[in-house]
Amino acid sequence: MTDDTIFGKIIRGEVPAEKVYEDDTYCAFKDINPAAPVHVLIVPKKPIPMLTDATQEDAALIGGLFLLANRIAAEQGIAEDGFRCVLNCGARGGQLVYHLHVHLLGGRDLEWPPG
Ligand code: AMP
Repeated sequence: MTDDTIFGKIIRGEVPAEKVYEDDTYCAFKDINPAAPVHVLIVPKKPIPMLTDATQEDAALIGGLFLLANRIAAEQGIAEDGFRCVLNCGARGGQLVYHLHVHLLGGRDLEWPPG
């Protein structure tokens, strides 16, 4: 089944994006509407719609998302000062794109709690 989300199209190269990382398993690109000076979306190529669709089989894939966030944070120069990883799940979690992804945010002081 084709992943018809905007992220599926970016992964397939059908829609342009400012990619900062790509391998066989993951793709990472700059958010089109950045909420911080650094705002990168880290996306597994496997089209899991949302966190609640992930299974034990995806454990390494999900863990790898956060390890990749570490690497990209270092490359983007925000690892030392600190950053935030956000995974929105479902309507009330603020998820807009139903292809699982992690937001990597940094480059400014981030408030807590989020809105
Ligand atoms: P979420 O609300 O967690 O589903 O986040 C979806 C994110 O995707 C939002 O921060 C959007 O700004 C971002 N987004 C939507 N379309 C694009 C696009 N074409 N390129 C990059 N980021 C996008």
